[in-house]
Amino acid sequence: MVEIKTDAALDAMRAAGRVVARTLAAVREAAAVGVTLGALDETARAVLREAGADSPFFGYRPEWAPTPFPAVICASVNDAIVHGVPDGYRLRDGDLLSVDCGAVLDGWVGDSAVSFPVGRPTPEDVRLVDTAYEALDAGIAAAVVGNRIGDIAHAIGRVCRSAGYGIPSGYGGHGVGRTMHEDPGVPNEGRPGRGMPLRHGMVLAIEPMLIGGGGDGYFTARDGWTLRTSDGSRASHAEHTVAITDEGPRILTAP
Ligand code: MG
Ligand code: MG
Repeated sequence: MVEIKTDAALDAMRAAGRVVARTLAAVREAAAVGVTLGALDETARAVLREAGADSPFFGYRPEWAPTPFPAVICASVNDAIVHGVPDGYRLRDGDLLSVDCGAVLDGWVGDSAVSFPVGRPTPEDVRLVDTAYEALDAGIAAAVVGNRIGDIAHAIGRVCRSAGYGIPSGYGGHGVGRTMHEDPGVPNEGRPGRGMPLRHGMVLAIEPMLIGGGGDGYFTARDGWTLRTSDGSRASHAEHTVAITDEGPRILTAP
């Protein structure tokens, strides 16, 4: 069931979204060569704590997961697409890092992710990251009243495919509200004009995931969480929580 939010709820979700944006900014600031992923998780915990927010990630356990998620961010490096578990890995020059973060404030959830190179990037990684944001922007631009879910999916998929990148099917965006994952699903590829009509008050996490090698293959790593590319190529991921409104898309996790 899709929950339509009141305008007051959207304002409350914006407050949660601001906390997510602040947290991601702090993590990005802290991410440098030699810093561990665990230290980045500590940085995020401190920001959430100071904001009086809880983490929807910590302790999260979908049915397929072997363990409750042990951190407040997902930190996915290089060939990790999403769901990377922060650990003692030390960032190296040229790594490509994706950080996904959520916050719960006053019972409402925000969910957002960024990707960026650490140290000196290659042109290939810059293009892979830029295309993720381009796909996110295209998806957000399609998130308007009168369109359907398929229009968002199509907009995202077209940007990824025309740049030559792969898309891990089976993963994508979702409704957001009092819980992190609600209906409807928002695929990263699809047919325009299909699916649920978009209405004022719907809130969606829109989150393109790109596989640099161009294939669509992925697998779950031995930790039971991390999704990795089958061909070992690098991946990028970008996400915002977006409200559909009569005035146009409202990005709730914008800084
Ligand atoms: Mg997320
Ligand atoms: Mg999400």
